[in-house]
Amino acid sequence: MDTHDFRRLGHELIDWVADYRERIAEYPVMSRVKPGEVAAQLPAEPPRRAEGLATISADLERIVLPGVTHWNHPGWFAYFPSNTDLSSVLADLVSAGLGVQGMSWQTSPAATEVEDVVMEWLRRMLGLSDAFTGVIHDTASTATLCSLLCARERSSDFSQDRGGLQAEETPLVVYASDQAHSSVPKAALLAGFGADNLRLVETDDDHALRLDVLEAAVREDLAAGRRPCALVAAVGTTATTAIDPLAPMAELAARHGMWLHVDAALAGSAMICAEHRWMWEGVERADSVVLNPHKWMGTGFDLSAYFVRDPGHLVRVMSTDPSYLRTAQDGLVRNLRDWGIPLGRRFRALKLWFLIREYGVEGLQARIRRDIGNAAWLSEQVDAAPGWQRLAPVPLQTVCVRHVPPELDDDEPALAAHNLAVADRVNRAGRSYVTPSVLKGRQMIRVSIGAQATEREHVEALWRELQEAAVAAGEPAGRP
Ligand code: PLP
Repeated sequence: MDTHDFRRLGHELIDWVADYRERIAEYPVMSRVKPGEVAAQLPAEPPRRAEGLATISADLERIVLPGVTHWNHPGWFAYFPSNTDLSSVLADLVSAGLGVQGMSWQTSPAATEVEDVVMEWLRRMLGLSDAFTGVIHDTASTATLCSLLCARERSSDFSQDRGGLQAEETPLVVYASDQAHSSVPKAALLAGFGADNLRLVETDDDHALRLDVLEAAVREDLAAGRRPCALVAAVGTTATTAIDPLAPMAELAARHGMWLHVDAALAGSAMICAEHRWMWEGVERADSVVLNPHKWMGTGFDLSAYFVRDPGHLVRVMSTDPSYLRTAQDGLVRNLRDWGIPLGRRFRALKLWFLIREYGVEGLQARIRRDIGNAAWLSEQVDAAPGWQRLAPVPLQTVCVRHVPPELDDDEPALAAHNLAVADRVNRAGRSYVTPSVLKGRQMIRVSIGAQATEREHVEALWRELQEAAVAAGEPAGRP
């Protein structure tokens, strides 16, 4: 494509994206296509001859858009907010346009140095001390895997330089709560700890890790000759945003030489507001922390912020040093390929740089406060409504509810079917999208507030819809 065509089509597509965002509320939030429907509209064979992009906008509109679930819709209450502020769209465009591969400082000094600076900005915004150094990863899953690899190597005095974990006599054990995100057990398995050495510790009535159970598990492992290696604390679990007791967990980790990793994937964004920092009291004792600005801050997916206390250790675990990657500046600069798993790196820092400059810290704080206020409002409505239950505290923006009609009380299978039917009605109507989910055996409807476009009126509309759907699902014709 030459620059002439790029300029013309580029302007057209920017307009197309802007139009899409302006009319996003008109689409059903959750895509209504059936499996295979999008693919069936595309030719099975690639074009043999150049066909050009003359009809691409029409195809995007006709084929792609119906197959899109609209994460930036004001009625988005599913999974987690994954906002892509338009400033971040522009940053991604610039990143792609520059075509930078920032594996080393020398392969594009600006990619490294903008990242250095914005991660320092973010560290200050979060109130983390300068004991931490930040680096951008693609996802929290990758960062958590890095942490468990670092933990393994620290506890085993660099077993990777010998026979690896396979040659270790003492099994190394990883601990997290039974509410930890699936990326935690996945990382433990990928890092070679083995399912036998992974403890998913029971949680309390608020779904936070039980310290007494954790302590007992550690004691038992020590008595059996196993070595506690890593502890993952969730500040904001996926299901309910429960807050693990970080300060005493940090104490325990320090006592046993365990690596402490804090998974604040969603909740971390809220730490830019000082009044919420009680949630991660003790974070200063962590070895590593991850949060996802691509969840609730506004940078488009993907951008995870990973902070570590001992960069030298991370780099020793992650670095490779083939001759073709050496540069004259090694030792003077950060070569970010050594701060994570992939060699190649996009210029992701632009997304955070654009976003923070566009809104300022105060603008971003206002967003978080708005969403937490909206969740508190919904939580109050649920508490006051007969027949509705809230299944977890609401420290942040997630409200876990279920409808319990008197005639179904105590009948868990019937309640599950009823609440699935309520969620299904709301989702099929297309104005809002919630996630049905099971919490410790109880079917619930999980409402995750925080899309950029979601204002109080949208939360009010959702609450009305949930109540109407509950009535309709309870009527004879609506019974599952
Ligand atoms: N940790 C928590 C607490 C999460 O809620 C999630 C995603 O929902 C993740 C980790 C995984 O995030 P990512 O998709 O960035 O790997």
